[in-house]
Amino acid sequence: MADNLQMWTDLGMDVDKHDALCQVLPTAFGDVYLSQENRPEGMGFYDFVVADIHGIRPSELIEAQKNGRKVFGTFCVYVPDEVVIAADGIVSGLCGGSQFWVEGGEKVLPKSTCPLIKASVGARLDRTCPFFRIADMYVGETTCDGKKKAYEILGEDVPMYIMDLPQMKREKDIVKWAEEIKDFAAKVEEFTGNKITVEKLNEAIHTINEKRKALARIYETRKSDVIPISGKDALLVMQIAFFDDPARCAEMANKLADECEQRVKDGVSVFPAGTKRIMLTGTPLAIPNWKLHHIIETSGAAVVCEEMCTGTRYFENLVEEDLGSLDEQYMALSKRYMKNNCACFTPNDARIDDIVRLAKEYNVDGVIDTNLKFCCLYDTERRNVERALNEAGIPVLGIETDYADSDAEQLRTRIEAFVEMLG
Ligand code: SF4
Ligand code: SF4
Repeated sequence: MADNLQMWTDLGMDVDKHDALCQVLPTAFGDVYLSQENRPEGMGFYDFVVADIHGIRPSELIEAQKNGRKVFGTFCVYVPDEVVIAADGIVSGLCGGSQFWVEGGEKVLPKSTCPLIKASVGARLDRTCPFFRIADMYVGETTCDGKKKAYEILGEDVPMYIMDLPQMKREKDIVKWAEEIKDFAAKVEEFTGNKITVEKLNEAIHTINEKRKALARIYETRKSDVIPISGKDALLVMQIAFFDDPARCAEMANKLADECEQRVKDGVSVFPAGTKRIMLTGTPLAIPNWKLHHIIETSGAAVVCEEMCTGTRYFENLVEEDLGSLDEQYMALSKRYMKNNCACFTPNDARIDDIVRLAKEYNVDGVIDTNLKFCCLYDTERRNVERALNEAGIPVLGIETDYADSDAEQLRTRIEAFVEMLG
């Protein structure tokens, strides 16, 4: 802890203000996570990471920086980690998921901005998150308007590179994204001083594919009638995957998947038989946003899938491996990343198809379509989501919320009624 204090001071953090966050997080984690029964033993690693979330990984990153490596902070699942890793850089996801940071964001952003953006800006400008201090460069992308404008503000405080993401998915858009990835690679080479070669990029593509496969194995076990891992725990695994070392992430996820597979074989479920199965769809749930999962899983239901960027969108679809030129590799990356279905695209039928497909694959009883307040993209897309689920005969509940606890009881009442209605 003394070492952490020195590290946070050296990072220029507001340590007094940060103390307030350190005081509430362990209680929140204990109430939400450690109160669960019969968790897989493999969750011990993730509990350990959260117990010193602003200590362990930040000190690893600082150590790497001392050895000349650069850390790139990212905010979106369209930014290809592979390119950074091929140049011996490190990627750290930076999306803010705590109400603690929202107030800081509201100092410079309209209140009617989504909490994820406000928290991300607040974490940086209030100097209360080491990850936001450590990153040498931020990588933004032209997804939603709120993020685009927030990047201009963040760019005043830290080197910022913006990737121009197309908003449609025509053939020419895939080509354009491949070109954008190539430009990003040139920037990464310049910033790190390391050349990206075909071999290095193939290695990086393989590393990230292995991470995707490991995370997919855990999700695969959640399709079973026996539910071997709670939704809360699966969410935590995904949230930590955004900033952990990718090889270690794959290793720990594979260990957890082994255990979950064994639990399925042995009939070990964390929920009683007959518990209603819920899929969440919508906006991402950045760490430590555990609010909805906690309410659902203490209201007689289990979350068995998340069609979210902190869920299936993060690991579904692999990048083609072992290609022979950088241009082919950039195109392969573009093809894979453009399969992500964010509501910033139009039309976005593939997301609607995904939701119905996943609801069937995970054998869900109902879907909760969740939107962060002021995210008009996902909120508008709700109409299509609900229509498709209605046509498929799958019950759906639409929810809009933010990071504050003030609506927790109201949400609980609505969710309990929805679960009860599922029969
Ligand atoms: S919801 Fe869209 S903008 Fe947000 S992380 Fe996902 S892909 Fe990126
Ligand atoms: S939740 Fe919506 S408004 Fe917020 S960052 Fe993502 S796309 Fe933008």
